[in-house]
Parts: sequence; structure tokens; C-alpha cells
Amino acid sequence: MNSDTGYMRIALEEARSGALEGEIPVGAVAVFEGRVIARAHNRVESLRDASAHAEMTVLKAASSVLDRWRLTGVTLYVTIEPCPMCAMALVLSRVDRVVFGAPEPRTGAAGSFIHILGNPALNHRPEFLGGVLSDEASALLREFFRNKRAAGSASHASPDTNPSLTEPENHV
Ligand SMILES: [Zn+2]
Repeated sequence: MNSDTGYMRIALEEARSGALEGEIPVGAVAVFEGRVIARAHNRVESLRDASAHAEMTVLKAASSVLDRWRLTGVTLYVTIEPCPMCAMALVLSRVDRVVFGAPEPRTGAAGSFIHILGNPALNHRPEFLGGVLSDEASALLREFFRNKRAAGSASHASPDTNPSLTEPENHV
């Protein structure tokens, strides 16, 4: 097991904690000098805050720990490809590196939907790597949405197995 996999496992633990709280299971971890300095999961529902994505919370916590907004030297691990909001926050925070698990075809900003990470037009381009433990991250999402449908929250459940964060039935 290399260190990327090890840190991603911690992010996956966070994602599982989120699922237990009824949150879409996405977890993130910030690592500085080989040490986990912050970890969080998505808390959009509990905080009633559309911006409370795991990455946003981890960036804020990491800035607080290091007492600076420039997160040079930090690697951010997240279980799902970051959305445009989080990707831009990662760029602005000047993190060195972003490692993510599963690609997110509908909102991913590391190339799946749009290119923010690594965009040559931006003055900071974090190194990024996807696909680390992606099967586990996707399986968590699939299970979460399956349980949600089984609980009867969506009466017209589609056989959609796409592990996207945007559940089609949620568009009102
Ligand atoms: Zn996000």
C-alpha cells in the first residue's frame, strides 16, 4: 500500500461517516509533511449549506491549523473528483497536489466535465491524480443512493447505476 492509498482510506472513512449522517458520502483529507492535518466529510444537509463540501471544510481547517491561506506543501485527498467550486478553491489555496478517487462525469472539474485543475489559463496548477481507490468511492455512492431509493424517498427510481453526485430525481 503506497501512501496515496493510505490517505485515501482515511478519506473513505470520512465518506462513510457522512453516509451514516445521511450526507452524500464524500470524504477529504489534507496532508502536510506526511501528517494528516485535517479531515472532513460532506455536510451540506446537516449545515444546510450548499458549499459545505468535504474539500471546502478541509481547506478551511487546514488553513486554520497552518495559520495561513496559502496551502503550499499540502496534498488534498478526496474520494470523488472535485466539483468546479472546490477545484477553484483548491487552485486559490495553492495546494501542491490533489489526489481523488472516482471520476464524476456530471460535475468533475479535473477534466470529466470541465478543466479547472490543470487549466493552463490559471496561474496555479496543482498536480493532480485520479482513480485512487475509485471503486470503493463509487461503491459508497451507489450504495447510498440505492438505500435512499429503497427508503422510498424517490418513487420513480431509475435503474441508474451511475455513481454521480447528482441524483436525477433530485432535480425539481
Ligand atoms: Zn465540491
